Parts: sequence; structure tokens; C-alpha cells
Amino acid sequence: MALKYEDIKGLFLDTLAKDAKAQELLTMIDAGTGTYATASAYAARVGDCLASVLKEYAPGTSIAEWDIEDLIPKSLGLDHSIVVNACQTVQDTMNADASLGIEFIEPQFDADRAYGMVTELRNNPEFVNIADTFYDQLANFSQNVVDDSIRSNASVMNRAGVESKVVRVAEFRACPWCRAVAGTYDYDDVSEKGNDVWRRHENCRCTIDYITERNGARYVERVNNQVNTQFVEPADQVVASTTPSRSASSTGHDAAYYDSMLPRLLERYNFTDANDQQIRSLIRGLPLVAEDSKGLLRALRRRTNVKG
Ligand SMILES: [Zn+2]
Repeated sequence: MALKYEDIKGLFLDTLAKDAKAQELLTMIDAGTGTYATASAYAARVGDCLASVLKEYAPGTSIAEWDIEDLIPKSLGLDHSIVVNACQTVQDTMNADASLGIEFIEPQFDADRAYGMVTELRNNPEFVNIADTFYDQLANFSQNVVDDSIRSNASVMNRAGVESKVVRVAEFRACPWCRAVAGTYDYDDVSEKGNDVWRRHENCRCTIDYITERNGARYVERVNNQVNTQFVEPADQVVASTTPSRSASSTGHDAAYYDSMLPRLLERYNFTDANDQQIRSLIRGLPLVAEDSKGLLRALRRRTNVKG
């Protein structure tokens, strides 16, 4: 009997519920400390969980045993609704921060893309040649839901007169194209659907984020919260909270604070193996207040000096 959606649905949800990283990201989102970048990382995990379940079932050389027309669109539909929920939580928090009575605009299910994947599978019954690409496309599909959520909600905020920025952060192993397109943009300049900022090649795990003039400060707070509460061990937190903060920094943080924040930040963005130049561009690409950027860049220099 051909493999149908109902056969894998439970397993997909189970795998996702047991995925520690996905749950950690979802916890941040539900706690109101997540940003769209958190949702983007979460979406990639959701897609990866779906891929891992399908991989378990994938016949070695043929997908003749899959009911493609049932399995693919419905699985992607479930993926879509899981990711939409995460986006709604992030966007509702943002709308509340901006004190705007705007409702969340739900991104549409991308049926064209879903059926494009069905067609591709149907045209490649031997499967083995396209398997890697197919599995990568699941995370890509999932992250696109987040990108679409940003675009549709940003356009509403824009019409309401709220200025906003789109921040694209390149993953550590990003290709030159992705590194070139990374940066902070005025939403007005990139609002077109076809703009490069919204484009993803296969296996692209870059995150796209969104900040408005009305919640920029809250956003920075959230990024800091993520780095601190999620990635600082208790011992470090003690250091951070008991170290006198009479440093030169106007945000009230001293060198020890940034020294302990830097490795957490690198872990957060999977930059632990990156070189100094890559780390500098990550720090500059993040929408941090200038003091925090400078503090982190100084911490990076100290770390380099210690290494000799
Ligand atoms: Zn990328």
C-alpha cells in the first residue's frame, strides 16, 4: 500500500516534539522573547523533522511506494500551519509592542511551490538523483512561510505609516551570494516579492528578520534576552549580574558582560567555527544598539589577543 499522509502525520509531530532545538526555539517564541529570526530558525527545524521522517520511509531507489499527490501537499500543509502559528505569536507580540490594533495577516499556503515539488518527484521516479535537493527543499519551503509572513505583515504596517527594516543574516557557511545579500534594508526598498532579500537557493539557512521603528528597542532587548537567558549558564549569569556595571558603556554593560555574551552569540548563530572577519560581519549585520555592537567587537579583539 502506498505511503500516505496519514501514515506519517503522527510521526512528524512526534519527531518535532522530541527535537530539543526546535522546542527550545518554540519556547522562546511562546515566551515572547522570539523574533522573526527565531521563527525562521524554528521553521528550518520543522522542515528538517519532516525530511527525517520521510527519509525513514524513503525506499532506496524508487518512490513508487509513495502516494505523492496525497503525501507531499498535505505534509507541507501541516508544516505550513505549524510555522504560521509561530509567526503569529511573533507578529502579535510585535503589533502589541508597536501599540497598533493590527491583526496578524496569515501567509498563504504556497500551492504552486508544493505542486512544483510533486511534479519534480513524479518526473524523477528513480528519486536517488534528486533526493538531497528534495529534502533540502522542505526546510526551504518552511522558511519561506516565515519570509512571506514578514512581507505580508510588513506591507500592512507600512500602509499604517510605520517605518520598518528587514534584516537578512547570512548563516556561517553561507555562499558568497548570500553573504552579499545579507544586511539591513529599509522595507520600502525591498518590498517587491522578487527582491533578492526574499530569495533562497537550495539549502540556504539564512534568517530574515523584521524590525519596526516602533519596536526597535524591544527587539534589541529580545535578541539580548535570547543570548542571555537561553545561552548563558548559571555561573555566567552570576558573573554578569554581580559584576559592577560602572563601565564606559551607556547600556550599562562592562567588558565581562560582552566577553561572556560573545561565545553565546556565536553558538546562537552557528558561528563557533567562523573566523574573525566572518564574526565581525555577523556582529555588524545584527540590529544591535551601537554600544552592544562595539562591546562585542571589543570582546572579539580581546579573544583574538588572548589566542595570540
Ligand atoms: Zn543563504
